[in-house]
Amino acid sequence: MSDHTHSSAERPLWPSVWRGFRRKCPNCGSGPMLKSYLKVRDTCTVCREELSHHRADDGPAYLTILIVGHIMAPALHMAFTRWRPDPLVLFTVFAIGSVGLSLYLLPRLKGAIVGFQWARHLHGFSQGT
Ligand SMILES: [Zn+2]
Repeated sequence: MSDHTHSSAERPLWPSVWRGFRRKCPNCGSGPMLKSYLKVRDTCTVCREELSHHRADDGPAYLTILIVGHIMAPALHMAFTRWRPDPLVLFTVFAIGSVGLSLYLLPRLKGAIVGFQWARHLHGFSQGT
């Protein structure tokens, strides 16, 4: 249940999303948002902003697959048609590349989604000031 009694102007959308992508608190931009690889802190250690209200669910995984797929599929096609590398080399490079890019993007996209939800007062964030 989200009421939209708060104005969204007080929480600018894209700076909040960007702070989240940098895995920082969307409110102050300096406190770390995550306490392990993917765990969101309950409150910011710097500004005490409540962060436990997020509902990122499987959104970060979905976005990660979407982005990695759209980068890797054309790249795989290009690498194959241009260089025809040894299949084992092609597989190794793309397996490591895909896993590496996914591991890089997943916590950052999670932060971005939490920042988005925070800025838009979604879910539990609607009770905040
Ligand atoms: Zn903070």
